[in-house]
Amino acid sequence: MACEQGPASETVVPPICQGCSLIDEVVCEGLDRALDNAAAPVDFAARKPAIELEGECTSGSRR
Ligand SMILES: [Zn+2]
Repeated sequence: MACEQGPASETVVPPICQGCSLIDEVVCEGLDRALDNAAAPVDFAARKPAIELEGECTSGSRR
């Protein structure tokens, strides 16, 4: 994951495969801060972002 770097907390994002229903888990550092920045213009402080990644696993390039 290409996330903003810095002293930020970690957000766990579950990627959900719609092909095989596999649910994995990735930890994304700085995601909460990025969301906080995004919400700042509307005077909203993000506390607990809930994010899901829906898609399909790419078996060819899976680590
Ligand atoms: Zn899959």
